[in-house]
Amino acid sequence: MDFLFDLHTHTIASGHAYSTLKENMEEAVEKGLLAYGFSDHSEAVPGSCKNIYFMNFKVIPRRYKGVLILRGVEANIIDFKGNLDIDNNILNRLDYVIASMHTICIEPGSLQENMDAYFGAMSNPYVKIIGHPDDGRYPMDHDELAKEAQKKGIVLELNNSSLNPKSARLHGRENAIKMLEAARKYGTYIICNTDSHYADDVGDFRNCATLLTEMDFPKELILNDSIDNLRMVLNKSIDEM
Ligand SMILES: [Zn+2]
Ligand SMILES: [Zn+2]
Repeated sequence: MDFLFDLHTHTIASGHAYSTLKENMEEAVEKGLLAYGFSDHSEAVPGSCKNIYFMNFKVIPRRYKGVLILRGVEANIIDFKGNLDIDNNILNRLDYVIASMHTICIEPGSLQENMDAYFGAMSNPYVKIIGHPDDGRYPMDHDELAKEAQKKGIVLELNNSSLNPKSARLHGRENAIKMLEAARKYGTYIICNTDSHYADDVGDFRNCATLLTEMDFPKELILNDSIDNLRMVLNKSIDEM
């Protein structure tokens, strides 16, 4: 299995990650990625980025030692309508948007409330990836999520960090299995991301690879093996691609 890109990574700008953008980009080169995306948390996560952080990405080179550099955000879903903590007029400047639920930003609701939150976020025209929908603290219906994602052209994330036994997320592995089974059933695309908060973890997809192999998950539903597949999650065309 080829993992050519990693779009969910954090830098020191997130406030609880420990590497700079340049250190992460170096690691992406080291790991042989063809594209690397950074997606710092938007502002509802304490200590993370204010809007202005996302407004000056033009200073960052499009290529670093041959690796395509993509500029994204991990936006927070902040209510059960699926509203985000960052405005669309900032999201429209970015290459891609991941929307996720974090307990520090939204208390887990009932199954229906959590699903409403995800469905609401999936209706935002800039959201193309749902981040780590595998956290057992948020009860959810994986079949419904995968079905809706397929319908709306949204990609579900298989998060390498959730599969780490050290993860704060609850039953990450069991839930990732449910998500993958549902994705297989409904033909929903998945994207593997590391959710790195430290440079060494950029591009390290070992947990994802093991699980996908164990489950014999269909390769044609995994985005990461072709750069062309990036188009499915990007909000704009990038000349340098
Ligand atoms: Zn984080
Ligand atoms: Zn997250």
